[in-house]
Amino acid sequence: MNQLYNLVNQENNRKLLLNTIRNGHIANAYLFHGPEGSGQEGFALEYAAMLNCHAREDQPCGECPSCHKMKTLEHGNIHLVFPIQTGHIAKDDPPFKNFGPDDMEEVQNCIKKKAANPYEKLCPFDGKHIPINFIREIRKKIYLTAPESGYKVVIVFDADLMLEPAANAFLKILEEPPEKTTLILTTSNLNALLPTIRSRCQTLYFPALSTTELGNHLRKNGIREDQINLVIRLSGGDVRQAIQLKEADLGRLRKITLETLRMVATWKIDKVYDLVNQFVMLRKENPDEFDRLMFSISFWFRDAAILKAGKPESELVHADMQTELRKFVDYYTELDAFGAYSAVDNCIDLTSRNVYINLALVNMFFKIHNRIQPGKSQ
Ligand SMILES: [Zn+2]
Repeated sequence: MNQLYNLVNQENNRKLLLNTIRNGHIANAYLFHGPEGSGQEGFALEYAAMLNCHAREDQPCGECPSCHKMKTLEHGNIHLVFPIQTGHIAKDDPPFKNFGPDDMEEVQNCIKKKAANPYEKLCPFDGKHIPINFIREIRKKIYLTAPESGYKVVIVFDADLMLEPAANAFLKILEEPPEKTTLILTTSNLNALLPTIRSRCQTLYFPALSTTELGNHLRKNGIREDQINLVIRLSGGDVRQAIQLKEADLGRLRKITLETLRMVATWKIDKVYDLVNQFVMLRKENPDEFDRLMFSISFWFRDAAILKAGKPESELVHADMQTELRKFVDYYTELDAFGAYSAVDNCIDLTSRNVYINLALVNMFFKIHNRIQPGKSQ
């Protein structure tokens, strides 16, 4: 575990980066890429801290004045570039020209959040691209200022969001890189970057985290043991999403999952239509929660199949609903758990493709009902 940023290990990349410092082979430009939440942004910060740490050990010491400033991302040697909405500005204006004091405070808050959790996205006001003015401003800064000591590091988060003029301005920096400066681009969308940029950077791939690595990280961050499997599944291996799935959300998810199953098992047609409407509403208002709910229901039947097959309980996703699951499986002796699981899976596929949602849901509930109590209501 790293002291400075609480990153999940990416041992090979960490060693590789450490060796560049030991051998003095620090590239002018790096491209850190990998799936969302695999840590490429956090490791860009860590590399910047390593390059500037006074102790020069295997990882940033966390104690020296440089590390203290890096911890809060207030180090004079690091320059962060991220997507923002500039509003209307002229060619030579600074990128934040239209930002009032409140807006700037929000930007600072986003930077603070990034410092506290490097898996958090740095994207104030939901910016959609990195404007050329931002690159120009950074360019001025790095040519004008000498490093405090150590290395100047420019980190461009979500570099694929540089439009072509911004990307070309960036290339200009690479043509004449200032001394003791390194530029790090990060992206989870490698193919969206211009080939001219890709070819000039040393590329480092950050693979998705294994479930074991993610599980250990969640444990250290206080996620309950019986919720770890569920959080891993729901987050799809993305550390940021996993950390965001707070216990309260999971409690609510559990409640709705159980209510849905009860409603579908008893099958009162007006109640089922109410339920469909609730699902449709949820999808409209909170698509992420809708997705989580659908997956939660599909995991329920996957878990029921595991219990029916007499497999170990450690394989359960809904480990925190073990008692309810056991009762369910014991009560509905004819349950076709795999059939119900497939019905939910099929519906997840249909709703993600935006087919007629109400119909897809009614169909799913009906199929589940018939697979819970086969032969009773057909
Ligand atoms: Zn240090």
